[in-house]
Amino acid sequence: MSAPPVVWWVKRDARLADNACLAHAAERGLAVLPVHCVEPSLMSADDHSAMHAQASWQAVTALRGSLRARGADILIAHGEVAGKLAKLRAALPFTAVLSHEEVGNGLTYRRDLEVAAWCRANGVEYLEFPQRGVRRGGINRDRFRRFFMSRVASSPPLKIPEIRTCARARALASATGFPALPAFADNPGWQPVSEAAARATLDDFLGRRGLGYRGGISSPNTALEAGSRLSAHLAWGTLTVRQAWHAVKARLAGLDPRDPDTPRWRRSLAAFLSRLAWRDHFTQRLESEPDLEFRSPHPSYRDIPYENDPRLLGAWAAGLTGFPLVDAVMRCLAATGFVNFRMRAMAVSLACHVLHLDWRAIHPHLARVFRDYDPGIHLPQVQMQAGVVGWNAIRVYNPSKQLAEQDPKCLFTRRWLPELADVETSRILKGDIPGGYPAPVAAFAPRSRAMAAVLYGIRKTREARAETPGVYARHGSRKPEQAFRPRRRKPEKPPERTLFDDLGE
Ligand SMILES: Cc1cc2nc3c(=O)[nH]c(=O)nc-3n(C[C@H](O)[C@H](O)[C@H](O)COP(=O)(O)OP(=O)(O)OC[C@H]3O[C@@H](n4cnc5c(N)ncnc54)[C@H](O)[C@@H]3O)c2cc1C
Repeated sequence: MSAPPVVWWVKRDARLADNACLAHAAERGLAVLPVHCVEPSLMSADDHSAMHAQASWQAVTALRGSLRARGADILIAHGEVAGKLAKLRAALPFTAVLSHEEVGNGLTYRRDLEVAAWCRANGVEYLEFPQRGVRRGGINRDRFRRFFMSRVASSPPLKIPEIRTCARARALASATGFPALPAFADNPGWQPVSEAAARATLDDFLGRRGLGYRGGISSPNTALEAGSRLSAHLAWGTLTVRQAWHAVKARLAGLDPRDPDTPRWRRSLAAFLSRLAWRDHFTQRLESEPDLEFRSPHPSYRDIPYENDPRLLGAWAAGLTGFPLVDAVMRCLAATGFVNFRMRAMAVSLACHVLHLDWRAIHPHLARVFRDYDPGIHLPQVQMQAGVVGWNAIRVYNPSKQLAEQDPKCLFTRRWLPELADVETSRILKGDIPGGYPAPVAAFAPRSRAMAAVLYGIRKTREARAETPGVYARHGSRKPEQAFRPRRRKPEKPPERTLFDDLGE
């Protein structure tokens, strides 16, 4: 009789390549039953939206196609995971549950603990495998860089193994249909999320688009083409950071030194590799301190007297603030789920520094409209742009300046604000916009100055200064030997470049 199968619990890892769960089963000659649960608790969370449900559904549906092409299948259930595993075990006595180490929100964290407890109570082995350069449970920050490199850069991605299955597992999987939920409705504006789409996007970036990366990702007009557009794939696990990293390294190795574009390619790909490293640098913060979902990493920045005016929150979310570039960003996000880094940072800056909204009040809406929502990047970034981290420079993005620099012909702005279609560029740039479009809902200069004064005021307090080195030691990016030093009047000689340059930390 063959050995009982193991369950591969598919979460944000719907791919066959570089998948440690599949590799583990294959090395031991074990049959695998892939199982995915559409979880009502996650779907009703305030940071979840149809955009996410559909991304996950699309990735899992594509995985089902790949599995079927290899004679296997996936069981898709609608319900909470521990309960579904219990039911499944009554029908199929599996011996282990394999999953990837997810760094998610509080809900997925508690859900993972529940599944682990169910496995323990039922004599089922529960094995989690890393899929990013993040250390489970936390890490001494001095060692993070080396750890990241050992995880991501030192070993090549895992090949797709032979997938063993068993008749009972296949029969169970094919007997279940995909739950027909209306929230999964497709939308042509959303970026496709599947393992094949990830590979195609990566190849296209490395073969063609990546040349314009350096210098091309700040404007909302060029970032769609110049940026890698891999964020949704990395977030939903249809691609791993290790796959992207090694593909870049192979591309760099293959560059022809005689090609005049080679220096530009090298600079662009180096900048891209830095961002892959930032990804896990930020995610490590949430992994090390899951409570960062609810509070700033720095104790002195937890009770800022935000106004939290619901009217302003509503105007910001709907793209009706009267700041044209910010409104275009918010409407573009609602329709497509994507804007580039700078536009995201500007939207948070306006919300927190000018509209005086708490980062916790704006986070759920932003999460819902990001196709690539990944709590480990999202929460630390929202905190950083809100200026509540404690050691970063406080950046107030002036939307008028950003408009003049990043969208000087107002192409992006007009595309998403049809009411401005016939307004002259010079008038939009000056903010001299005729009726039919709201006047700014808040005065930029005095209100941003007031919030900057609050934030800098906190920074100067004795309590904050006493706390900062400790918070930085837990979460800051640095070279191994670099400790926190308060800002001096005369800047020191800049340290040599590290993977985490440009972080602004
Ligand atoms: C307020 C705010 C919230 C954000 N929330 C998310 C989120 O939920 N999910 C997400 O993937 N990115 C988030 N980002 C980071 C960044 O904006 C996106 O990753 C990027 O715009 C995606 O485009 P791309 O794939 O072309 O990225 P590229 O520029 O090609 O970068 C490659 C990859 O590196 C990672 N990355 C890029 N920039 C950053 C960064 N600043 N910090 C950490 N990782 C980075 C992403 O995984 C990205 O796909 C956020 C940024 C801000 C300012």
